[in-house]
Amino acid sequence: MYQKNAWSKYEGDSLNELMKFNEEYKEFISLCKTERECVSYAIKLCEKYGFKSLKEFKKLNSGDKVYVTNMNRNICAFVIGDKPIEDGINVLGAHIDSPRIDLKQNPIYEASNFALADTHYYGGIVKYQWVSHPLALHGVIYKKDLTEININIGEDENDPVVCITDLLPHLAQQKNTKPANTVIEGEDLDITIGHMPLNGEEKDAVKANVLKLLKEKYDIEEEDFISAEIEIVPAGKARDLGLDRSMVLGYGHDDRVCAYTSLRAVLDAPKCESTICAFLVDKEEIGSVGATGAHSKWFENIIAELISLTTDYSDLKLRHALTNTRMLSSDVSAGVDPLYTSVFETKNAAYLGKGICYNKYTGSRGKSGCNDADPKYIAQIREIMDSNNINYQTAELGKVDMGGGGTIAYILGNYGMNVIDAGIAVLSMHAPNEVVSKVDVFEAYKAYIAFVVNAKNI
Ligand code: MN
Ligand code: MN
Repeated sequence: MYQKNAWSKYEGDSLNELMKFNEEYKEFISLCKTERECVSYAIKLCEKYGFKSLKEFKKLNSGDKVYVTNMNRNICAFVIGDKPIEDGINVLGAHIDSPRIDLKQNPIYEASNFALADTHYYGGIVKYQWVSHPLALHGVIYKKDLTEININIGEDENDPVVCITDLLPHLAQQKNTKPANTVIEGEDLDITIGHMPLNGEEKDAVKANVLKLLKEKYDIEEEDFISAEIEIVPAGKARDLGLDRSMVLGYGHDDRVCAYTSLRAVLDAPKCESTICAFLVDKEEIGSVGATGAHSKWFENIIAELISLTTDYSDLKLRHALTNTRMLSSDVSAGVDPLYTSVFETKNAAYLGKGICYNKYTGSRGKSGCNDADPKYIAQIREIMDSNNINYQTAELGKVDMGGGGTIAYILGNYGMNVIDAGIAVLSMHAPNEVVSKVDVFEAYKAYIAFVVNAKNI
């Protein structure tokens, strides 16, 4: 059951193609550090490929290319197939939210002659990894008149950055005895945003100066943070990792690496018999909840819209469409790290460089919370991968009872559709900079194309 290293397939033109694809991916993750930025980028890419907003269609026919968004934090891109929607759709689902730190609604305060902003982290960050790093502010502020102000500070090399300060080791004797999960407390992740006082201001003059700058640059008042969504993310671009440039080091591979490759697969796929879809979803890192998470009825509603634009609508047709759908729930896998091999069971672990990774199940403590894909469906996928010369591997998330995790697979599985977890192996998952292998990025993209072209009801 030894899986070959995927790099051995690539040389000359094919290697150049792999590297070029990764340059495009690097641009995407360097620019898109929030859900909204991913959706805006995806819309532009879709339009470049001739996709149009669902609102522009009165009727949908085979070959039509359509995208639809939800609150600027979800996007679905569809290519309508020859077969009725009722026959099911080939879906690639991935999430575009990543662990990060968010500004609170009443964030700005002054202490010890510094202006700081209070935060609340999002998702499973390892808190001690985020201190004393250059951080950028990305997000949106809505004024009461609904004017939208986009914020992006810290990415241009001439921009200032913000940062979370850390205690010097000389005075950290007590702090350093704490366990890793409390050595930096959640309330101690506040960012430093200024220290120059406003002339003539008596009280909180540094804070006043920062507010004055925000007023001048963005025309916002302190109260406008109440209706804002500002995300604090690692500043700077994704970089080639390794002297051989074989890997990408960057923020947010989980799960934008699967999102980008899934979207590109739908854009680049040849005409398919079935309708195909890339579904990029939010809130996976906090349980897939709310209006923009996978638990939302939004996706189901969109399928209902597609049915009504292709044929006479009935609720039964919608039920059939969802049950008959085939899906890859694409999310990153934990790659074996040579520094931490003891947490993996090496026969059933994901390795960087061995291609797309399938997880029959994820979960923890006896597979709890997982989707456990149907073996007959897995057999179909094996056949699709092998006949398209795709390198793939199978894995579990670590040794039994070592920990665990979940994905959106079981949520779509609730419709009775065939779903399996698939994705790209990552090192340093959830860290400010994560690692992927360029060959896995390219292999996943090719695997997703093979899937949308070939997956059928069984
Ligand atoms: Mn993920
Ligand atoms: Mn994650």
